[in-house]
Amino acid sequence: MISFKSKKNRISFHLFITGLIGTLVLLFACATVPLTERRSLRLLPDSELLSLSLQQYSEVLKKSKLSNDPVKTHMVKRVGENIARASEEFLRESKLESDIKNYKWEFNLIEDDKVVNAWCMPGGKVAVYTGILPLTRDDTGLAVVMGHEVAHAMAKHGNERMSEALLVQLGGASLSLALSKEPALTQQIFMGVYGAGAQMGIMLPYSRLHESEADRIGLVLMSKAGYDPREAVPFWQRMNEKGGSRPPEFLSTHPAPETRIKDIKSHIPEAMKYYKER
Ligand SMILES: [Zn+2]
Repeated sequence: MISFKSKKNRISFHLFITGLIGTLVLLFACATVPLTERRSLRLLPDSELLSLSLQQYSEVLKKSKLSNDPVKTHMVKRVGENIARASEEFLRESKLESDIKNYKWEFNLIEDDKVVNAWCMPGGKVAVYTGILPLTRDDTGLAVVMGHEVAHAMAKHGNERMSEALLVQLGGASLSLALSKEPALTQQIFMGVYGAGAQMGIMLPYSRLHESEADRIGLVLMSKAGYDPREAVPFWQRMNEKGGSRPPEFLSTHPAPETRIKDIKSHIPEAMKYYKER
């Protein structure tokens, strides 16, 4: 009886330690999202995500037709570089300057009028599809889209999504050990999150939380880059009007049109504090 009890105690002590290690792993794997200050789970080293992202991005570019319109291509690069500069400034001001080295910015315009979309992979690898340009109309409209997409990368939503998927597959305590031994699994999850979708111009939808966070940070980034954040409202109205029976991809992967515009309006005063007129 006594020995059974002590064995039971040993087991619960073991469980306690395993749980404690698991909790510590998760605690130290948490980081804070700039601006919103939400704690988010990031189990993967940025370097690993960056190398997966580089491979996948060049795959996508190889399989896509880049636009040969010099004016539009230049516009995408110009607005992208302004947003990138604003992002780095924003990271510096958020005391996250050590993060800047994790971005290898690239902005490409892919020729596909049917794809109303844009995305940014970890490390600042951006693709814009020609199909979204009639809706963005000008540099400011494009800055709304670009700010939003870069904000996903800046808030490390990809790492968080992959971490959640890894947690489900591997479980808590053995995670850090398993990660080092499971590069294939990490790659497979990355492909699940970014791969197949990026080939077709559509990413897996982000959660509502990630979407509204990207909207809020995106407004600040565009403002810092010198684009009027108030223009985000008419841009999203144009996106909604385009909706109809077959909504554009950018819209269908980014939910709740009326609530979104309401939320964006509520964040404009905050963004205006960062707005530097060009
Ligand atoms: Zn988004």
